[in-house]
Amino acid sequence: MGKYFYDVIIIGGGPAGVFCSIQLKQKRSELKICIVEKGKMLDKLRRSGGGRCNCTNLYAVVDNAKKYYPRGAEFLKHLFKGYDYKNFLNYLKENGIKTKIEESGKVFLYSNDANELVKHFINRINEDCIDIIDGECISILPTGFDEREILLVNTKKTKNEKYQKDEPNYKKFKIQVKTKENELVDLFSTDLVIATGGASNISNLLSYFEIELVKQVPSLFPFQIKEIAKFNLAGITVEKVIGYLEFNPEKKVNEAILFTKDGVSGPLILQLSAWNAYELFENNYSGILHVDFIPEVDEQTLYLNLTRDFHNTGKIIGNLNFLYPIPERLWGYLLKRSNINPAIKATGIDKSSIKDLVKLLKNCTFEISNKANHSEEFVHAGGVSLKELKYTCEFKKYPSLYAIGEALNIDGITGGFNLQASWTTAYSCACAIDKKYEDS
Ligand SMILES: Cc1cc2nc3c(=O)[nH]c(=O)nc-3n(C[C@H](O)[C@H](O)[C@H](O)COP(=O)(O)OP(=O)(O)OC[C@H]3O[C@@H](n4cnc5c(N)ncnc54)[C@H](O)[C@@H]3O)c2cc1C
Repeated sequence: MGKYFYDVIIIGGGPAGVFCSIQLKQKRSELKICIVEKGKMLDKLRRSGGGRCNCTNLYAVVDNAKKYYPRGAEFLKHLFKGYDYKNFLNYLKENGIKTKIEESGKVFLYSNDANELVKHFINRINEDCIDIIDGECISILPTGFDEREILLVNTKKTKNEKYQKDEPNYKKFKIQVKTKENELVDLFSTDLVIATGGASNISNLLSYFEIELVKQVPSLFPFQIKEIAKFNLAGITVEKVIGYLEFNPEKKVNEAILFTKDGVSGPLILQLSAWNAYELFENNYSGILHVDFIPEVDEQTLYLNLTRDFHNTGKIIGNLNFLYPIPERLWGYLLKRSNINPAIKATGIDKSSIKDLVKLLKNCTFEISNKANHSEEFVHAGGVSLKELKYTCEFKKYPSLYAIGEALNIDGITGGFNLQASWTTAYSCACAIDKKYEDS
């Protein structure tokens, strides 16, 4: 069994862990740092934004946090003061990585290739001599806190002497790693950063610590709707509809909806899944989705407009979708749900049928039957409770222990907000560790 000693160990080689290690090295090159990664380094980053990497968003700033982060907005507001999207764009610029801005403030890599950023980070890790340990961290023991195992470590620091002089001569954490070859390795460190992402088993890893964890549940997923699966609506998009879920009628979202072969997706649905992540989880992924297909006019005005338009045309009702931004197949579906025969002339439609159609256009309800099972959840809500942390991402109760990225109870809606939360928390943590050396 091997033993290795580090100044900082980071568990998790995702965007948060990697960015934290690079920021730390930039500030204090003499630190001995390692990243423990059980899978593929930066795997999610490689797949982010459909492979194009939506790396941040122009709205990821202090004043907007509440609007874009269903969980963690207050905490992020503090951290954004020190590092928001502008800082990350500067980092990319300084490193020769070009970006472009798309709709809703989304920032993508100019190359449309997430691998560009992955390669840049991997090069930096190599140049900065950050060790990578291929294996799974299976336990963390706080050696210094309970005096169970205070390790006297006589590590000889070459470049580091200046900063090590006054440091206590022991490592605070013992980390056990199972390598890919099934070997057990013990690592020891002064500072420890948990950057294990969303779907990780943090409660096991942190079982020696008394830390409040918020249940991790999926966020940002499409819905299955049995009724839609029976109709041929797949591929239809309606821009700028307003939708909400029954659990949370005040939380309305104005975005595009996309019909899939067995349900609905698109920005509207992904955002609603984020704002209602816990309600959906508690209700076993069932509930009622409400959609207003024509939000720009109220119900009364739409009724008057439809009555006038139907009256003024000799066409059959099935061909009238061009009057409103409703695609033909969806129009047919709505007529069917209103029990209106698409083959009759519009002039022949009675008032109560028009009223039914207006009701459906303004408040069309769909029964969610599940979350789409073919989709991979993009992020997880939940994780380390933010109550446990200082604004440096260090645990209040456990000095020198940090948590960053998706491991925290922070998640954003789609559009680059989640990666920005990783960059921001990673940066704050790196600054805090750096400051300790400065102060000592
Ligand atoms: C397909 C996809 C596309 C996405 N696209 C975007 C996008 O375009 N824009 C955006 O803002 N967000 C996007 N996201 C979300 C974004 O990728 C995540 O928010 C981000 O990756 C979180 O970074 P992280 O480092 O905290 O966690 P992760 O990226 O999850 O990294 C954590 C790492 O820790 C490792 N790990 C976990 N437990 C252990 C252990 N015990 N020992 C060792 N290693 C461990 C994991 O293997 C993993 O590599 C996307 C997510 C997915 C899945």
